[in-house]
Amino acid sequence: APPADAPLPVLGRDVSVPLVTGGEVAYAALDYAASAPALQRVWDDVAAYAPYYGSVHRGAGYLSQLSTDLFESSRRTIAAFLGCRADDQVVFTRSTTDSLNLLAAALPADCQVFVYETEHHASLLPWRDAQVAYLDAPRTPARAVEILERALADRDPHGPALVCVTGASNVTGELWPVKELAAAAHAHGARIVLDAAQLAPHHPVDITELDVDWVAFSGHKLYAPFGSGVLAGRADWLRAAEPYLAGGGASRTVARRADGGVDVDWHTTAARHEAGSPNVIGVHSIASACKALTEAGFDRLVAREQELVSRVRVGLAEVPEVRVLSLFGDDAPRVGVLSFVVRGWNSSHFAAALSAEYGIGVRDGLFCAHPLVRTLLGGDPQEAGECGAPESGPGERPLNAIRVSFGAGTPDEHIERFLRAVG
Ligand code: PMP
Repeated sequence: APPADAPLPVLGRDVSVPLVTGGEVAYAALDYAASAPALQRVWDDVAAYAPYYGSVHRGAGYLSQLSTDLFESSRRTIAAFLGCRADDQVVFTRSTTDSLNLLAAALPADCQVFVYETEHHASLLPWRDAQVAYLDAPRTPARAVEILERALADRDPHGPALVCVTGASNVTGELWPVKELAAAAHAHGARIVLDAAQLAPHHPVDITELDVDWVAFSGHKLYAPFGSGVLAGRADWLRAAEPYLAGGGASRTVARRADGGVDVDWHTTAARHEAGSPNVIGVHSIASACKALTEAGFDRLVAREQELVSRVRVGLAEVPEVRVLSLFGDDAPRVGVLSFVVRGWNSSHFAAALSAEYGIGVRDGLFCAHPLVRTLLGGDPQEAGECGAPESGPGERPLNAIRVSFGAGTPDEHIERFLRAVG
């Protein structure tokens, strides 16, 4: 058995990449925040199931029954992993973005939405058909709670309201005071959805303990492959909403009416929002990742990752040209996600050099959180382009940043190589 503090085996760890300086080196994936490498265990579980897959919820055949069992038992595994309440629903989606758009489509009439301007675009933007209050960037976790309380106190207390907050920032890795924000939301009669895209891979998320109403996350950041995500939480709004997608699987019965129209009786379970043939392999892979993290001892993985965070912090602090970006202060608790700028360097060139000279994969840009990154960089010197990197100018002020992110599969050597390269 591997030693208790070893990284979990992941795909891609044996891939060599060419260096501009000649030769090859084992690729160091330090871009977990974008997509984490899948766990070898997840891949093995998927491969073991692959010969047996059949249509889900449709067929009488043996393999269809196996697939249906796997699909529904994955739902239960994920519910347990998230500490769901007995009457919560676990809805399968394509991603966190999809999960939050589903919830946005399920808001009751006249719902007000409260969202910090610092959110990832996936949690900032889906609410555009509702009345949205964009909350200012707080500079401490306590201030985040105050800002929310003030905003909620000013609202019409009779109408429905939803707060959307990210548990761990995809830019700074900083942890948000989710439990306190949930208490504040509930004290004012509002509900809260947790964007756990970055939190879930780095930290156990317990919906009951945090007392949040919904949690959204993506498989591809939780050590499973692309293409599947989860929205878990309160059933009532989901049950009352129009189906997110209309089609087979979401409807219990469909009948032609005498007047020529069609009557549809929609499911009231999670199936209501899961029309079409589901991504059984994607769902199976998320459940497999949840089991692998639990069996490896999630707390142990968190402790090891925190060691790496400390090493990166200390290592970067020793380089005078480096400025690590933070909203809550340099010592704020964070997961294995850190963004920084290097004086005298264009961030895109810096990231390209890490790849070409050291075989290290990081990300540069504004990380789909444009308002936050602009705040952290200080000002908005130039309109940014796409979700990725805008063109950086030659001026003093950086226009984008470099992000290093890691997790359960990261060996010490990747972090050492990264710090050597930056230094
Ligand atoms: N929220 C956060 C905090 C994220 O970091 C991301 C992905 N970068 C998302 C939402 C969106 O996830 P996905 O692209 O898987 O929909």
